[in-house]
Amino acid sequence: MSETVTLSLEDCDALVFETLLQNGCDQANARAVTDTIVAAERDRCASHGVFRLPGYVASLRSGKVKGDARPRISQTAPSVLRVDGDGGFAPLALAVGREPLIERARDQGIAALSLVDIYHFAALWVEVEAVAREGLAAFAWTAAAPMVAPAGGVKPLFGTNPMSFGWPRADGPPMVFDQASAAMARGDIMIHARNGTPLPEGVGVDPGGAPSNDPDAVLAGAQLPFGGYKGSAIAMMVELLAGALTGGGLSKEAGDRDINDGGPPSGGELMIAIDPNKFGDPDGWRARGESLFAEMLKQEGVRLPGDGRLKNRLETPTDGIEIPVALFDQIRALREIAG
Ligand code: NDP
Repeated sequence: MSETVTLSLEDCDALVFETLLQNGCDQANARAVTDTIVAAERDRCASHGVFRLPGYVASLRSGKVKGDARPRISQTAPSVLRVDGDGGFAPLALAVGREPLIERARDQGIAALSLVDIYHFAALWVEVEAVAREGLAAFAWTAAAPMVAPAGGVKPLFGTNPMSFGWPRADGPPMVFDQASAAMARGDIMIHARNGTPLPEGVGVDPGGAPSNDPDAVLAGAQLPFGGYKGSAIAMMVELLAGALTGGGLSKEAGDRDINDGGPPSGGELMIAIDPNKFGDPDGWRARGESLFAEMLKQEGVRLPGDGRLKNRLETPTDGIEIPVALFDQIRALREIAG
C-alpha cells in the first residue's frame, strides 16, 4: 500500500483551488472545477478526485483548455438548451446550464441540455445529482477519446462513454447511478498502473489485440466494453447522443484533434431532465420508486447503486481524505513551478 497524506475537505479544497488559480484558471473556472474534484474526494471516488488535478493543470499549461472560458447559453427549441463551453473545462459550462435546464423541465415536463466545446474530466454523478436533488429524474452522457474497442474488435473507437441516471427519493438524496460503458473506467486502470496491480479478466487487450491483465499494455492497446455487445451498444448510443446529436463530435474526432497533453479531450455532453409530476402518475411515481427500491433491498446481498458513495460521504468528514504522498508531492511541485 502506498503512503498517504491526510487532509480535511477544507484543506483539499484550498489545495485544488490555489493550484488551479496559479496555473491559469480564473476564479469562476477554478471554483467550478474545485467543487467537482472535492465532491469526488468527499465520496471517495479517487479516480475523479485530486488524481485528476495534474491532468487539468497539464491542459491549462499546454494552452489546450481556456482557464478563463465564459460559457454561453442559448435556446434552440422550447425545451432544448445549448451551452457553448468556450473551450473551457466542463464544470462551469454545466453550472451555467443547470438552473435553466431545471426551469425548462419544470415548465415543459422534459428538457434537454447540449454542451459543446467542453473538456470533461469528471464523474457524471456530480452533475446528475445536482439536478435530481431538485425533484427531477435526470440523465447525462458524455463521449471522450477513442479508448474502447467495439464488441468483436480490438481497436479503440469509442470513449469510455459514461452514462448516469438520477431518481428523486422520498427522503434523502436521490438514487444516482453512474457507470462507464467500458468494463473498467480508464482512471481505475491508471490507478492499477500506478500501484503496479494486475487487472481482472475482460478489461482490455494489448496493442497486438491479445487479452491482457497488464494495465500499461491495456492503456496502450484497447479497453473492452462491459457485457460484450450489450455494453458496446450503450457506448455507441453515447457517441450518437453526446457526439452526433449535440454537435460536440465523436470520440474519434476528439482523439484526432487532441494534443495528448495528459488532460481531457474536447467533446460534447447531453443532459435530459424530466419532471415526473408532468407524466402519467403524479401521485404515485415516488411511492412506486420507493416500493421498487424496498423490494430490491429485501434480497440479501443487494444494495442500491450510489449507496456506496453516499455511505462514504457520511463517513468522510470524520476521517478526512487520503491522498497518496507521491500525488501530493506532484501537486506541490505544480504550485512551486507555477510560482
Ligand atoms: P463503477 O463500476 O465503480 O460503478 C458503477 C455504478 O454501479 C455506480 O453507480 C456504483 O454505485 C454502482 N455499483 C457498484 N457496485 C455495486 C453493487 N454491488 N450493487 C449495486 N450497485 C453497485 O463505475 P465505473 O468504473 O463504470 O465509472 C467510474 C466513473 O468514471 C463514473 O463516475 C463515470 O462518470 C466516470 N467516467 C467519466 C468519463 C469522462 O469522460 N468524464 C469517462 C468514463 C467514466 P456506488 O458509487 O455506490 O458504488
